[in-house]
Amino acid sequence: MSLLNQKIGIVFGVANKRSIAWAIAQAWKKAGATLVFTYQGERLKENVEELAGTFGEDTLILPCDVTKDEDIARVFAEVAAKHGRLDLLLHSVAFAPKDALEGEFVNTSREAFRVAHDVSAYSLIALARAAVPLMTNGGSIVAMTYYGSEKVVPHYNVMGVAKAALESSTRYLAYDLGQKKIRVNCISAGPVNTLAARGIAGFTDMLKHYEAHSPLKRNVLPDELGATGTFLASDGAAAITGQVIYVDCGYQIMGM
Ligand code: NAP
Repeated sequence: MSLLNQKIGIVFGVANKRSIAWAIAQAWKKAGATLVFTYQGERLKENVEELAGTFGEDTLILPCDVTKDEDIARVFAEVAAKHGRLDLLLHSVAFAPKDALEGEFVNTSREAFRVAHDVSAYSLIALARAAVPLMTNGGSIVAMTYYGSEKVVPHYNVMGVAKAALESSTRYLAYDLGQKKIRVNCISAGPVNTLAARGIAGFTDMLKHYEAHSPLKRNVLPDELGATGTFLASDGAAAITGQVIYVDCGYQIMGM
């Protein structure tokens, strides 16, 4: 039996085949879900159409800059028109200006702080609010986060602060939406070599550090994030909400 049969999902954050969103989308599809994809702008249109096109010719693929309320409204109106409802939402979107991820945190500008929080944290609230009217049978919202939210990871800087806001928003959303049987959880992934990750100074060292110090002595694989994403989307996780699940080969438990 397919875990996500009959489920309709929407995926935010596929940039290319290395994207964590793509790994989770593939796993959701394999488990039987029908998916809608979004991409930020023209630059990624071709990439996403090529990937998502493999899911079937009639797959809905829509532009959406998550900082624009009008984009969000249009996307959910199109989902309503095509599918009439929604069960799953993946938030796999983050951004901070490059200079904010290189220098000292103390030099974070007001604008870099605003942008990082708008794209990476507020967007979860805006997307959840737009999804709720379509989640008439309940639903599962999954957001991607990172350990830099709770401990200092050099160079992660303002993105760590934005991830703390994302994780806290997950808890408040879980409380608000629980009565509607909508669950909201985060996956805290260990480092994965993606476009966004390469924007963080010293990312290659981070991969080596995890390999050396995590209990499993390796880095997480994209397929493993897909499997956890499927679990959180499925009825197996029916009583799990407001949580941050670490999929990081155990790194988070280490003291030194
Ligand atoms: P990715 O492939 O670069 O995905 C990031 C996505 O965010 C891209 O599709 C990007 O589009 C999109 N995005 C940025 N600004 C946007 C906006 N205003 N509107 C809509 N989309 C926007 O990198 P990834 O590593 O898979 O990242 C996915 C999520 O996983 C992020 O939340 C990230 O923080 C989280 N995460 C990653 C790691 C890791 O090591 N890779 C670890 C833990 C958590 P553009 O390319 O157009 O900007």
